[in-house]
Amino acid sequence: SHPVHGTITGPIVMIGFGSIGRGTLPLIERHLEYDRNRMVVIDPNEDETGLLAEHGVRVVGTKLTPENYRETLSSLLTEGDGQGFCVNLSVDTSSLDIMTLCRELGVLYIDTVIEPWTGFYFDRGRGNADRTNYALRETVRKEKAANPGGTTAVSCCGANPGMVSWFVKKALVDLAHTIDLTFEEPEADDREGWARLMRDVGVKGVHIAERDTQRTKKPKPFDVFWNTWSAEGFISEGLQPAELGWGTHEKWMPDNAKEQQAGTKAAIFLEQPGANTRVRTWCPTPGAQYGFLVTHNESVSIADYFTLREGDSVTYRPTSHYAYHPANDAVLSLHEMFGNGGEQQPVLHVLDEDELVDGIDELGILLYGHEKNAYWYGSRLSLEETRLLAPYQNATGLQVTSAVLAGMVWALENPEAGIVETDEMDYRRCLEIQLPYLGPVEGHYTQWTPLDGRPNLFEEDLDEEDPWQFRNILVH
Ligand code: NAD
Repeated sequence: SHPVHGTITGPIVMIGFGSIGRGTLPLIERHLEYDRNRMVVIDPNEDETGLLAEHGVRVVGTKLTPENYRETLSSLLTEGDGQGFCVNLSVDTSSLDIMTLCRELGVLYIDTVIEPWTGFYFDRGRGNADRTNYALRETVRKEKAANPGGTTAVSCCGANPGMVSWFVKKALVDLAHTIDLTFEEPEADDREGWARLMRDVGVKGVHIAERDTQRTKKPKPFDVFWNTWSAEGFISEGLQPAELGWGTHEKWMPDNAKEQQAGTKAAIFLEQPGANTRVRTWCPTPGAQYGFLVTHNESVSIADYFTLREGDSVTYRPTSHYAYHPANDAVLSLHEMFGNGGEQQPVLHVLDEDELVDGIDELGILLYGHEKNAYWYGSRLSLEETRLLAPYQNATGLQVTSAVLAGMVWALENPEAGIVETDEMDYRRCLEIQLPYLGPVEGHYTQWTPLDGRPNLFEEDLDEEDPWQFRNILVH
C-alpha cells in the first residue's frame, strides 16, 4: 500500500548503520524499486540488532578511512549495470571526499551533514574558525564552484539540516498570504526571488526551534551520554563553536564573536561551545524556552540563501540559527559533560523507541520580526505515532529518515543537478514525499518576544527598542 516513488537501477551502498541508517532502510524498501540483492551496508560495528541479516542486506565490516575509501567504495558502487546510489549516514567519514568520488563515478549521492574524517572536531591544531560548519560548508561550495553541474549529490538532507529549509519556504509563503502581500511565488531555482520575498515579508530572523519531549523509561545513570540520535554526532557538533547566520538588522555583537575572513561571510561564531550556549526561543508545546545555540549547516546555508546584495554590499540577510532543547536526558548528559571539563562520558548511547515512554519531537522554524511578530511552522511528531508509521526508530529518527527518502527521490528525478543544498531543491515535491511521516505539521503564530518578562528581579543588558536583536535572544 506504500507508493513507489522511483527506481534505482544500480547498487545501493549505505555507509553507516546507526540510528539513522536503521530507520532509513525500511523507507527505502517501501518507496523505492531496486534489486534487493544489490544493497550493501558498510559499517565497522557488528549489527547487533540482526536487522541486516533479517532484511537480507549484505554487510561490509570496513571502517572507511582516507586511505581505503576510494578502493572500497569504487568497487561496490560500480558492481553490475545501472546507476548506483550512495547513502552516507555515517559519522567520521568525509562527505566531501565521498561525494566527489561518487560524482566521478556517476553515482548519485546523499548525506545528512557535511561530516569530516575522524579527528577534525577535536583538532587543537586547528583554530576555532576552522572547526566551524561554515568552514566545512566552504569546502563543499568550493568543489561545487570548481565542478558545476554533473551527477547529483544532495548535501545535508536530514531533518535539520534538510527538511527545515523546506519549512522556511512553506512558512514564508503562508506568512506572505496572511499579511496580504501581493507576490508571485518564486520558482525553485530563483534564489534571489526567495530572498526578496523574505525581505518583503519583513522577516528579521529564523530560529530552527526544536523541543524534544521524548522521555526515557528509566532515569539516566551517571557517566552515560544519552540522546535520541547519534550521541557521538551531538557531542562533536556541541563542542564546535556556537555559530549563527548573521542578519543585517543586528546592531550588537557579543565580545567573543568572530567574523569569518573568506567565503560568503554569512555567519559569525562565538569563542565558546554551542552546546554550552543558551538562547531564548519559542515552540508550541512549551511556549517560551531555552535552546542551545549548537552550530548546524542550515544556520549558515539559510542565511546565505536569503541574502540580497547590491554590488559587493549585503543589503538584506536574516539572522539564522538553531535553538535546540534536546530530550531532557540529553540536557542532563550535556550538563554532566561540561561539568566534567567537557570530557565526554565513557558510554555514548542512542535511545531507541523501546527505551522511551512517550513524547514528541517538535521541530520547526520560527520566522520572527515581521508585522505578525513570529510564526512557528513545523512537525510535532509523537513517539506513539512514529511507532505506527515506521519501524526501528523514534520520532527524531523518522523526521530525519523521511527527509533522506525525499532527498533520494528528488535526486532520482533530478540526476544531473550537481551538488545541491536543500535550500535549492523543490520544497513542494520534497514535502509531498515526506509529509506522511511527519505527524501533525502545523503553523502557529505567537506574540512572544525574547523581552517577555524582562527585566525581572535583576538588571539586564537589553535592547528594548527592538525585541528581536540577538542581544536579547542570547542568554548572557
Ligand atoms: P550513530 O552514531 O547512531 O551511527 C553512526 C554509525 O556510523 C555507527 O553505526 C558507526 O559504526 C558508523 N561508522 C562510524 N565510523 C565509520 C566509518 N569510518 N565507516 C563506516 N561507518 C562508520 O549515528 P546516527 O544517529 O545514525 O547519525 C548518522 C549521521 O547522521 C551523523 O553524521 C549525524 O550527525 C547525522 N544526523 C543528521 C541529522 C539531520 O537532521 N540532518 C539528524 C540526525 C543525525
